Amino acid sequence: MIDEAPDAYLRSLIRDVPDFPQPGILFKDITTLIRDREGFRLVIDAIAGAHRDVAVDVVVGIESRGFMFAAPVALHLGAGLVPVRKPGKLPARVISRAYTLEYGENVLELHADAITPGQRVLVVDDVLATGGSLEATIALVSALGGVVTGVAVVIELAFLGGRARLGRPDLHAVLTY
Ligand code: AMP
Repeated sequence: MIDEAPDAYLRSLIRDVPDFPQPGILFKDITTLIRDREGFRLVIDAIAGAHRDVAVDVVVGIESRGFMFAAPVALHLGAGLVPVRKPGKLPARVISRAYTLEYGENVLELHADAITPGQRVLVVDDVLATGGSLEATIALVSALGGVVTGVAVVIELAFLGGRARLGRPDLHAVLTY
């Protein structure tokens, strides 16, 4: 039950896991947030509420934890849902983008026909760390002619400088650490 401010309540639901997936990383675990019905509702309402006044055709979620938030947000906003996935997961023709993670390297892919030119896109992920995943995703959407009208994350790790790297005034974080 919520017996404190929503922000404090949401913070209390996020589990810090030290040294995962490798030494030195303090992993922000959102599974303890989404298993809580009040917490899950609060966080989806916060993201959807922040974008209610911006027309959105498609919500793009980033594999895999981004999907857990992108799907309910898309339903709330009356938008479609498009997954950005790790290599080899999407079955049809894709476009790809390589990027650097807080811990390692990765490639993200988007179906080449997933977004049509001029569609208005909200990009959603769980955590903004260095910003590499979001930067690559925004580039993929833009390469298809999509117009990114918003970027939303549940958690921003401000000390990693992702916000500056992305340079997007429309970046919305529910919680900032
Ligand atoms: P980045 O591309 O560096 O912004 O990393 C963002 C992606 O990596 C997100 O999709 C997160 O799921 C994951 N991630 C990076 N660092 C963390 C962290 N400290 N805790 C939880 N997830 C993280």
